[in-house]
Amino acid sequence: MERESVLKVALISYTPEPELVVATAMRQSRYKGGVINLTLKSEDVKHLIELALKLGHLSVFEYISFTFAIEGISRACSHQFVRHRLFAFTQQSQRYVKERNFPFIIPETVKKNSEAEKVFIKAMEYIAGAYDKLSALVPIEDARFVLPNATETKIVATANARELMHFFKLRCDEHAQWEIRRMAKAMFEEVKKVAPNIFSESNLKLFV
Ligand SMILES: Cc1cc2nc3c(=O)[nH]c(=O)nc-3n(C[C@H](O)[C@H](O)[C@H](O)COP(=O)(O)OP(=O)(O)OC[C@H]3O[C@@H](n4cnc5c(N)ncnc54)[C@H](O)[C@@H]3O)c2cc1C
Repeated sequence: MERESVLKVALISYTPEPELVVATAMRQSRYKGGVINLTLKSEDVKHLIELALKLGHLSVFEYISFTFAIEGISRACSHQFVRHRLFAFTQQSQRYVKERNFPFIIPETVKKNSEAEKVFIKAMEYIAGAYDKLSALVPIEDARFVLPNATETKIVATANARELMHFFKLRCDEHAQWEIRRMAKAMFEEVKKVAPNIFSESNLKLFV
C-alpha cells in the first residue's frame, strides 16, 4: 500500500561520552577530592552506573540527553508519546504542512483481515477526498479536522536518561499499546548502542 508509512527512529544527537558523565557525577558523591582531572576506567564507569541504579541515585542520569527524529508513527501514537512531560517535542504541524494524499499507519490486525483492510482503505480514501475538497474551501488548519488518528506524523523528541528510563519502563512493557511499544523499543535499541551500561535489557527492571 503506497500511502502506508513505515516506522523510522534515528538518534540524531546525544551528550558526548554519556556514561562517563554519569559515572563522574556518581563518583563525586563518594569522593573527597574533585573530579576535574579524574580518569575513570571503563570498569569504574560500569560499576558506578550499576551502583547508581541499585541505590536509586537517579539524579545522576539527568546530566545526559538524547535527541530522536521519529517518522512513520500515527497521530494516535504521538498523542500517547507527548503525555511524557519531561521530553521536549517538535511535531510536524498540520497547520502548515498540507497532507496531500496523507500517509497513514495500518494496524497489523487490520492488515491480517482482508475485510477489515478493505473497510480501512476505503475510509482513508474517502477522508483524503474530503480533506482535499475542504482544503480548497477553508484554511488547512480547519480542513485537518477530518484527518484520522491513523494519519502519519513526524516528531523530534529529546529527553534526559532518567526520563528515558521511566519512558522505557512504561512503554516497552507488554501492557503498553503496540505502536508506542514498537517505537519505544526502537528508541531503546538506539540508546543501547551509545550507553549500553545504562540501557540494557537486564536494567529495564530497575527503571522506575
Ligand atoms: C499502559 C498505559 C495505559 C494508559 N492509559 C491511559 C488512559 O487511559 N488515559 C490517559 O489519560 N492516560 C493514559 N496513560 C498515560 C499515563 O497516565 C501518563 O500520562 C503517561 O504514561 C505519562 O507518564 P508519567 O506521567 O509517569 O510520565 P512523565 O510525564 O514522563 O513524567 C515523568 C515523571 O515525572 C514526575 N512528574 C512529572 N510531572 C509531574 C507533576 N506535575 N507532578 C508530580 N510529578 C510529576 C512523575 O514522577 C512522572 O512519573 C496510560 C499509560 C500507560 C503506560
